[in-house]
Amino acid sequence: RAKSKGRGQFTRYLAGMDRRAQNRKKLEVSLRGAIAGGEIHLVYQPVIELQSGRVKTVEVLSRWKSPSHGFVSPQLFIPLAEESGLIHQIGQWVLEQSCREAASWNDNISLAVNVSAIQILRPDFPETVLRILEETGLDASRLELELTETVLVQEADLALQTIAKLRKNGIRIILDDFGTGYSSLSYLHAFAFDKIKVDRSFIMNLRKDPEKGGSRADALVRGIVSLGQMLEVPVTAEGIEEEWQAEELRKLGCDYGQGYLFSRPVSIAKLRSIIGMSHGFRSSDPTPARSIA
Ligand code: C2E
Ligand code: MG
Ligand code: MG
Ligand code: MG
Repeated sequence: RAKSKGRGQFTRYLAGMDRRAQNRKKLEVSLRGAIAGGEIHLVYQPVIELQSGRVKTVEVLSRWKSPSHGFVSPQLFIPLAEESGLIHQIGQWVLEQSCREAASWNDNISLAVNVSAIQILRPDFPETVLRILEETGLDASRLELELTETVLVQEADLALQTIAKLRKNGIRIILDDFGTGYSSLSYLHAFAFDKIKVDRSFIMNLRKDPEKGGSRADALVRGIVSLGQMLEVPVTAEGIEEEWQAEELRKLGCDYGQGYLFSRPVSIAKLRSIIGMSHGFRSSDPTPARSIA
């Protein structure tokens, strides 16, 4: 009995694996037609200079609304696009659309685009980016490419060459989600990033009253911010949801902030009204972002 029960469980386990693999395959097939079908669209989230409250950068984020699967998170479809090779097509489309949009903004606002390891390791990537800048009329100095640490570890030499080419042309390279991957201080030095983004998980774990014994996250955020200052690399904190977090980060000397407190990722129309505001996001305002976004 026990044996047949065990076998039954194993069969169910296999069937479950099968189902998951099939679902993944289905999702991949749908993703293949998603761009042509107009199912992918872009949203934009402002990055604020914490001292002045002004929007300095806007990060573009992809959204997929599939007729058969509903809203699929980028945390799911980006890895799928990477595994299937679709990321090149999607990534290029994101760059083209967002650079064209950003070219129409006030010229002191930059655009930040997330780029996958797979994309950057393709030898023609720098040429593709430069061609898109040319075509859309966006100045290279207004483009930031956000990379995560996995790139650096896997193909460090190739990544270094590509990054050097991009930077030589005036494009800035940002280290995204700092602290979650395989960060090593030597990478930080070798790659000479133009900005570091502290991962949201550290901001989430900040504590309200550090006087009463700061948490580990406090120490880490403080450490990353001072590391940035020593290396003269500006630091951005992502995932700021509360005013006290912004205040704490401002006190620590963190340069930029991004999160729901200021604005959620929004449509182009909403973004344009946000960056059209002259006064920016002041902490003295009664949570301005909430009434806007
Ligand atoms: P990321 O680049 O670290 O982007 C920040 C993520 O945090 C976004 O999630 C954003 O919506 C979310 N976020 C921002 N502020 C807050 C906040 O205050 N609270 C909380 N809880 N979340 C906040 P999203 O849009 O789901 O994207 C997830 C990840 O997917 C991105 O992380 C990025 O790595 C990747 N991704 C998104 N779009 C693209 C794309 O076009 N290309 C590539 N290669 N990756 C993309
Ligand atoms: Mg990012
Ligand atoms: Mg990030
Ligand atoms: Mg993140």
